[in-house]
Amino acid sequence: RQEQFKALRSVEPVTKDGKAISLNMNAGLLVDLPQLAESGAQGIGLFRTELQFMIASTMPKLEEQEAFYRAVIRQAAGLPVTFRTLDIGGDKVVSYLRSQEEENPALGWRAIRLSLDRPGLLRTQMRALLRASAGAELRMMLPMITEVSEIRAVRELFQKEVQHLSKFGHSLPRKLQFGAMLEVPSLMWQLDELMAEVDFVSVGSNDLFQFAMAADRGNARVSDRFDILGKPFLRILRDIARAGDKNRTPVTLCGEMAGKPLSAMALIGVGFRSVSMAATSIGPVKAMLLGLDAGQLAEELNAALDDVRSDEPIRNLLLRFAETN
Ligand code: PEP
Ligand code: MG
Repeated sequence: RQEQFKALRSVEPVTKDGKAISLNMNAGLLVDLPQLAESGAQGIGLFRTELQFMIASTMPKLEEQEAFYRAVIRQAAGLPVTFRTLDIGGDKVVSYLRSQEEENPALGWRAIRLSLDRPGLLRTQMRALLRASAGAELRMMLPMITEVSEIRAVRELFQKEVQHLSKFGHSLPRKLQFGAMLEVPSLMWQLDELMAEVDFVSVGSNDLFQFAMAADRGNARVSDRFDILGKPFLRILRDIARAGDKNRTPVTLCGEMAGKPLSAMALIGVGFRSVSMAATSIGPVKAMLLGLDAGQLAEELNAALDDVRSDEPIRNLLLRFAETN
């Protein structure tokens, strides 16, 4: 099967009924980069910048961050890389950055909250990203956004960095794409405002599922208790995809579910046309979608999601569809 997936590397990811699906990979270290060409991914949909911080024993300096991002961009060889700003805290521990014990770290001082409270840290990272992307496109996204105002606050800091660099004669990125991760349920009721504010949205389904179901992603006893392919979560995802269509905002998803063929199928069924996953999942997901009638699936899946009387698990419908189509 490995060989079979390799043979798919240069095959365009298009469903049987002609829907193009963008397949991207997740990465966080330079060792991941060769997989970009090997997997045939169209880009890096999630670059977890905190990895560089997690493996260091002291805070990486501006120059180190810049050199690292440069190397990533060089090795991506022209394919787009979406850099996520620091997502520290929760399940991602950086010993030299946080000291306070928290009772609920997943709900605590983490990700963009920490970055906004340590603007020097965030500005240094954005400066490194700006410098490394001189003359190229910079795609940057923000983790754990809870309110749209947080995005505006980051933009203000970002503008200061842009001004600073221009003042000192540095060349700037040719293009900027500013995105937000959708992983906190509060954003579900700010979708239009959110999409008016950003160039793209990327669903972090690991965290969004954890918060939507109030079930710790690191605790199998509760995280496996609820089905990620159940009605509530698929309705959430469908609402996001529909809001993306309505606002003409590109929507993608970069959590673990994108890499499982059955879940990836469900994502296409609720309207996603772009996903990002572990490099090793690109082949299996592509094999699935090449034979998929996305229109037929959407019809059956939407009917099931709208059926308030049936309590047949949606997963059964998806399994049946996968077997018979
Ligand atoms: C997610 O939450 O789904 C996600 C992609 O981010 P991370 O797994 O790094 O929290
Ligand atoms: Mg997350």
